Amino acid sequence: MEQRFVYADHSATTGVRPEVLEAMLPYLKEEYGNPSSIYKKARTAKEALEKARDQVAKAIGAKSATEVFFTGSGTEADNWALKGIFEAYANKGNHIITTAVEHHAILHTCEYLEKVRGAKITYLPVDSEGFVRLDALKDAITDETILVSVIAANNEIGTINPIKEIAEICHEKGVLLHVDAVQAIGNIPIDVQEMGIDLLSMSGHKFYAPKGVGALYVKKGVRLPSFIHGGDQERKKRAATENIPGIVGMGVAIELAVAEMEERNRTLIPLRDRLINEIEEKIPFAKLNGPREKRLPGHVNFSFEFIEGESLLLLLDMAGICASSGSACTSGSLDPSHVLMAIGLPHEIAHGSLRLTLGRENTAEDVDYIMEKLPPIVERLREMSPLYEDYLNGNTQPIIMKK
Ligand SMILES: *Cc1c(COP(=O)(O)O)cnc(C)c1O
Repeated sequence: MEQRFVYADHSATTGVRPEVLEAMLPYLKEEYGNPSSIYKKARTAKEALEKARDQVAKAIGAKSATEVFFTGSGTEADNWALKGIFEAYANKGNHIITTAVEHHAILHTCEYLEKVRGAKITYLPVDSEGFVRLDALKDAITDETILVSVIAANNEIGTINPIKEIAEICHEKGVLLHVDAVQAIGNIPIDVQEMGIDLLSMSGHKFYAPKGVGALYVKKGVRLPSFIHGGDQERKKRAATENIPGIVGMGVAIELAVAEMEERNRTLIPLRDRLINEIEEKIPFAKLNGPREKRLPGHVNFSFEFIEGESLLLLLDMAGICASSGSACTSGSLDPSHVLMAIGLPHEIAHGSLRLTLGRENTAEDVDYIMEKLPPIVERLREMSPLYEDYLNGNTQPIIMKK
């Protein structure tokens, strides 16, 4: 097969889809009005803003569009939810519960709240497939607990958490639930009312909208202070002239992502499963990270013993395949991923992990191409590995069993 280009890193970001770009273009060109002004041109922008808010509210099953606040990113939505609830509910308590496998947008915000603002944080353990331990959640809630924050679907290993059950536990104890749904939106069904979610973070660039636009859903009645002070935008809670082109793009993208989800997953899930099965068949000493079921469509994560994830990525890149090891945010650092540590992987094999995340434009030929390139690359890296040589010489036992 000749050289192809295969983008298999959709959990890191996605490209803006044509319909989204088309919808955005007028607001980058002639419709540049500031929605806060009063003339007709401004009203056009204001109407576009409110239409997008409706689209987002519908896509997540919100009761009202007034529960949706646009932000500059998923990271900002996460920061706002945690810092805002901590501030608004200080009279009730200072305890926040989250999990060991959150995105850094949650974990580093929690570290800040703990070190600088006097919060008490509990990091719930997960099981070997990355699911939050519900018994641990029940035990962790105290009279001081004000918020539980749980990732809906894990960006590194694809695990889909039982959000509805988690919400029931929280509400029994009168505690608010925030959900980081950045990976979930457009990939699995999300309905904030049906699932019992109080706050929910989203990010446009994970579902084919541009980068630099996100949103926070805040259920009516939940107190949340302003995050950016200034003008009256976003009902005085998030000042700054709105990113109208980005917001319009996010509205169209979320509508399309949700409308097409079922049909897209009918092709994506079999492609994912074929990739998983073929890697297990063709590459010895390979371990699937995360569950087989209840995992994001298109999401594959493996550890390969005796090799370094970074060298694997470089050789895949030379073959035209974009992939990542762990999350994009941790690549470039030498620490093994906190998610792989939390599911109990030993350091040695956590370092040799590979994440391949397929999206709407991937085809069966892409999977064929990955399976043509990946096994010989892994083989080549092993041939250069002193650890593999030790094993071949009978000096060490492998951690992952040969299939
Ligand atoms: C990408 C991601 C974020 C951050 O979103 P940005 O818009 O890139 O800031 C937060 N949480 C999860 C789970 C993500 O995958």
